[in-house]
Amino acid sequence: MEINTKPRSKFLKVKCQDCGNVQTVFDRSTTKVGCTVCGATMVNPKGGKAEIKGEILERADVDMA
Ligand SMILES: [Zn+2]
Repeated sequence: MEINTKPRSKFLKVKCQDCGNVQTVFDRSTTKVGCTVCGATMVNPKGGKAEIKGEILERADVDMA
C-alpha cells in the first residue's frame, strides 16, 4: 500500500468551550493557544499535532511549501 502523505497543515475555526468565542488556530501549533476573550486553552501542543480543545467549526487545508 502506498501512502502519499504530503505534510499538510490546517487552520481550524474553533469555538471556545467556556465563552463561545470563535477564533482561528493552527492545528500544528507548537505553542499553547489561549482564547483571546477568556484565556481558556484552545490548542495544546502534543508532539507534531496539537490537541484541540473546543468545538471545531471549520477546517481549511493549507499547503505548506
Ligand atoms: Zn473563551
